[in-house]
Amino acid sequence: MVGGVSSEVAERLAQVRERVAAAARVVGRDPAEVQLLLAVKTLPADRVREAIDAGARLLGHNRAQELVATAPDLAGLPHEMHFIGRLQSNKAGKVVPLVSCVQSVDSLALAERLDRLAGREGRRLDVFAQVNTSGEDTKAGAAPQGAVAHALAVAALPHLRLRGLMTIGARSEDVDVVRASYERLATLRDDVVASGAPGTAEARELSMGMSTDLEVAVAAGATMVRVGTAVFGARPTG
Ligand SMILES: *Cc1c(COP(=O)(O)O)cnc(C)c1O
Repeated sequence: MVGGVSSEVAERLAQVRERVAAAARVVGRDPAEVQLLLAVKTLPADRVREAIDAGARLLGHNRAQELVATAPDLAGLPHEMHFIGRLQSNKAGKVVPLVSCVQSVDSLALAERLDRLAGREGRRLDVFAQVNTSGEDTKAGAAPQGAVAHALAVAALPHLRLRGLMTIGARSEDVDVVRASYERLATLRDDVVASGAPGTAEARELSMGMSTDLEVAVAAGATMVRVGTAVFGARPTG
């Protein structure tokens, strides 16, 4: 049934792309302004490969162990890998060589560790500053009150390139609550760029929105949505 599964992923990918494009058009944005990142946590490498075969180019892992385990199977396939999950400092050394960007920079200590690792590899690593816009204590990220200072401190590190801000939206049935969390990230991004501080000129990206709420995020200005379930189906729980 490999053929069947593969075309299903392709079909769902096309549907999600159309959702993103429609959401952009509704608010008068160019659909090309919004990149689609596929969140591939828990998936075996062959399912990730199907997505790449179907045209996906931007992928995100949020577990270091899975990233390391599946990387050899994906080597040579056309894709760019971001890290989007909680990253313990002691795992950073394994992650950095395998990714072009770490979106989940939630502390200065992690940023400094990434900066040292990127410097050692003689490169500059793209990063996003993660903000906890919902205030839910299960979520990582700088508190909104400290988010601009956090982003500026990250942007000042010589081997990191701050690309923008990332958040995991509020987990709420109330669309106004979700919208508020995304609009908050957009305002904070505006503040970061307006600061004119070193390293902030390129920090225009807003990584926000997932399978259930990507339309809300695009309306609030998302330049990248991160989607798993809508393309790959429900993940095993527990
Ligand atoms: C899993 C995950 C997503 C995608 O979530 P879905 O609801 O499956 O679309 C987005 N961002 C992060 C950080 C994730 O871990």
